[in-house]
Order: sequence, then structure tokens, then C-alpha cells
Amino acid sequence: MKLSKRMETLEPSVTLAASAKAKELKNQGLDILIATVGEPDFPTPKNIQQAAIAAIESGKASYYTPTAGIPELRKAIVSYLEKFYGLTYDVSQTLVTDGAKFALYTLFQVLLDEGDEVIIPTPYWVSYGEQVKLADGTPVFIAGEEDNRFKVTVEQLESVRTERSKAVILNSPSNPTGMIYSKEELQAIGEWAVAHNLLIIADDIYGRLVYGDDEFTPIATISEEIRKNTLIINGVSKTYSMTGWRIGFAVGDKKLIQAMIDIASQSTSNPTAASQYAAVEALTGEQDAVEEMRQAFEERLNRLYPLVLEIPGVKMEKPQGAFYFFPNVKGTMELCGYSDVTEFTDALLAEAHVALVTGAGFGAEENIRLSYATDWETLEEIVNRIKAFVEKKRRK
Ligand code: PMP
Ligand code: GLU
Repeated sequence: MKLSKRMETLEPSVTLAASAKAKELKNQGLDILIATVGEPDFPTPKNIQQAAIAAIESGKASYYTPTAGIPELRKAIVSYLEKFYGLTYDVSQTLVTDGAKFALYTLFQVLLDEGDEVIIPTPYWVSYGEQVKLADGTPVFIAGEEDNRFKVTVEQLESVRTERSKAVILNSPSNPTGMIYSKEELQAIGEWAVAHNLLIIADDIYGRLVYGDDEFTPIATISEEIRKNTLIINGVSKTYSMTGWRIGFAVGDKKLIQAMIDIASQSTSNPTAASQYAAVEALTGEQDAVEEMRQAFEERLNRLYPLVLEIPGVKMEKPQGAFYFFPNVKGTMELCGYSDVTEFTDALLAEAHVALVTGAGFGAEENIRLSYATDWETLEEIVNRIKAFVEKKRRK
């Protein structure tokens, strides 16, 4: 069977691939320590689980739901954005999806014609570029300078804007860098996007996972004009430790949302009913568990950061949000005799039994990603093993 042309260039998700490979080796009995995938290691809070169980037992979860999501959840999304960020939307401006990942996929399907461009700051989350390509669009990458905490400036964005540019993606706090754009930076980028009629795709999925004195500002809160030009992508996976439930959402322009609903009606019909009832409880119920998980991540960040810096050759600013370290390991690779970061990551897996993700999948050739959404003992041992690996290699 000959596959479609689009499969000739599609790269499977490197985060999921790295994670699957690590789990397979572990299942074969190898002592592999895994810090690949970005998913909280906590169980979904009990009240959320109970809401799903109640929906199943009452029979409500047995049936198709409206494609855009159950009305309770769409209302809960509106109230959530109002409560946490003071943003006002109508229920008709919301769509519940099978994870935020599918919200993005659907968005590109309705937004792009062949050759339309989406500007993507790098390092970027692995799926953005591939999803744009799946919609026949062209991803246009622009590298955030490491000295500017990997953030892009208006000047840089303007340097890649063309007549075909349709949208720009902003992911703050960022996966993989953990960096956050300030209000001023967002205002400048927002005004630039409005002036050139570019849709701002605001991937706010890590917005509740912010540490220290840093603050997350949703770009849609900066001004009414910017809000109108923004499509918010968010979901319950990271905040509520619900990656397996697959509930995300998109909020913004009604026409765009309706088009996305039409795509979903011909592809998924609706997100899983029981998960939707669980998500209502997540967004509207007790929020204590969110703060407990956030604090646990913050503690790991604070304890692990100095240890990661002890790895010879590593360079990195302290991340401000999400749950990733994205150190520059150029110096480390030089000490160990590697020039390719994927080879370096592969060697760490094969020889030190430490599973991380190569920066190449995020558009960064000198970095590796370590997810600290795993227990402290594992994290500490991972750093120790990397240090031992470097010591062994540099002696050779
Ligand atoms: N955006 C970013 C930046 C992410 O890291 C993820 C993680 N998978 C997603 C979107 C999608 O999340 P989900 O599909 O689990 O809602
Ligand atoms: N977003 C997570 C990560 O980057 C989950 C995996 C994925 O969807 O790519 O690891």
C-alpha cells in the first residue's frame, strides 16, 4: 500500500517516541530512569475521579455528547477564564476537544490553505510544525536567543513575516524552555500581530504552573484588540494531572470556533463523555490539589536546578514555569566527544540508562530536555548518572 505524500515528511512526536522507547527498555528489565514525557506524576485528584465515576454510574456517560462539548463544560470554561483571568467570552466561543493537541490540529485545518505560513518561535513544542504541515501550511521558524531566555522579539518576528503569514504561536510558559513572556513583551508582540492581522495562537496550557515571583499573563488580557485576534488553547492535562483523560479546549473568535466544531463533527464526534464530566469538576471544584502539585514541582525545580548546573559544561537560566529543564549541553558534548545532540541523548540512554528528549525535536541542536514531572529520587539519580557518564567519557 502506498501511503499519502504527506506521510513522506511527517515526523512522529519525538517526546512520545522517546518515552515509548524508554518504557520498552524498562519492560525488558533494564534499569532505565525516565524523564522524557511531560506529564504530571500525580494521580488525578479524587474529586475529579469521582465525578467521572458518578457520570458513568448514572448512565450520562454512555452517549455521544454535543460535538462542541457538554453545555456544563463549555460554561465551566467560560467561568474559569473569567475567574482566573477576568476574560469574558460567550459559550458559543468555546470548543472542547480531545486534548489541547487536537484543538491545535483542528485549528490549523480550518485556518490554512496550501502555502499559508505560521510563525513558530523556537525552541517549540514538537507538534506545532508537524500539525501545520498536516494542514498543507508552512511552518516558519524563528529562533529565540538563548541570551534572551529563548524569547523572540517583534523585530525577529517582523523579519520573517510575509504576505502569506496567517498566525503566530506563543507558548508561555514554554515547553520546552519553561520561560515566560512579560506583559510588556506580550503587548509588543500582540500589537504587532494586530497591526498585521495575524492570528495569535496562545497556547496557555502551562499557565497555572508558574514558580517563585514570576507571573503568567494570558496575552488575551492585554487589550480588547489583542483579545479579538487571539485564539486560546488550553486544557486540563497539566494543571489537573489529567493527561490520559484527553480534554483540551479552544476559545476565541466564534466563526473560527464554529469551523473547528464542524471539523470535529466529521472526525471525533465528541471528546469522551466521562472525561468531560470529570473536567467540569476539575475546572469548577476544589482547587487545593492544583496548588499542592504546583508546590511539589516548584520544590523539585529549586532543588534540582543547582544540581543540573553541576553537570560539567551545562549552561542554563532557571526556568520560570511548566516542568522542564532545557539545558544547553554544547560544552558537555564537547567534553564527551559528541557533536550531535541526538547521538548524545541516545548514548545517555544506552550507556547511563537515562531517558531524556533530544533538543533537536524542539528545534534546538545544543539542548536536551529533562521533564521534572517525576519523583525526586529518580531526578537526583538521573543527574548523578549524567555526571558519572560525563566523568567517564572525559577521562578517555
Ligand atoms: N501544548 C503544549 C505546549 C504541550 O506541552 C502539550 C502537551 N502534550 C499540549 C499542548 C497538548 O496537551 P494535551 O493534548 O494533553 O491537552
Ligand atoms: N506535551 C508533553 C511533552 O511534550 C506530552 C507529549 C506530547 O504530547 O508530545 O512531553
